Amino acid sequence: MFYPEPIAKLIDAFSRLPGIGPKTAARLAFFVLRMKEEEVIDFAKALVNVKRNLTYCSICCNITDTDPCRICSDKTRDVSVICAVQEPKDVVAMERTREFTGHYHVLHGAISPIEGIGPDDIRVAELVKRLGDDRVQELILATNPNIEGEATAMYLSRLVKPFGIKVTRIAHGLPVGGDLEYADEVTLSKALEGRRELN
Ligand SMILES: [Zn+2]
Repeated sequence: MFYPEPIAKLIDAFSRLPGIGPKTAARLAFFVLRMKEEEVIDFAKALVNVKRNLTYCSICCNITDTDPCRICSDKTRDVSVICAVQEPKDVVAMERTREFTGHYHVLHGAISPIEGIGPDDIRVAELVKRLGDDRVQELILATNPNIEGEATAMYLSRLVKPFGIKVTRIAHGLPVGGDLEYADEVTLSKALEGRRELN
């Protein structure tokens, strides 16, 4: 590297981000160099604040700046339904449909034996704890329609069975192998509508 150290460091920092190769990292670093100083300061603050001011909701495990999060504290939402999703961004996708008025549980990942990710590595224990609440009547498994998502749904449906709670899986129609977050609102609300009970 023949770049001066500050820019080399910034290139290195960008290249650690997912999907950013060395060329893109260099392009971004030089873009930052051309930005106004106050813009750069705002950008840096946003990076720091995301770590300092965000925490995990003690109920649903979603990322939040208040605990419990806004959804968990919303008294108008239906406490009888919990929709389990893999990532915080999936909550955003579900909320965009405006069809779902229940609560969420964010697993922060999916079970993947290939990658060595087991139930203890995601927020399964926290979910099980919530199911002890008598008000919960249905668990919707809205994990991604790929191998890991299906494996997670299967695992959870077996685990939850003794609780006597209705367990449903969102319908197909979602692109197989895809991510929930990329599904459009119509597809996602149809998938939610057509959910089926898992036996
Ligand atoms: Zn919450």
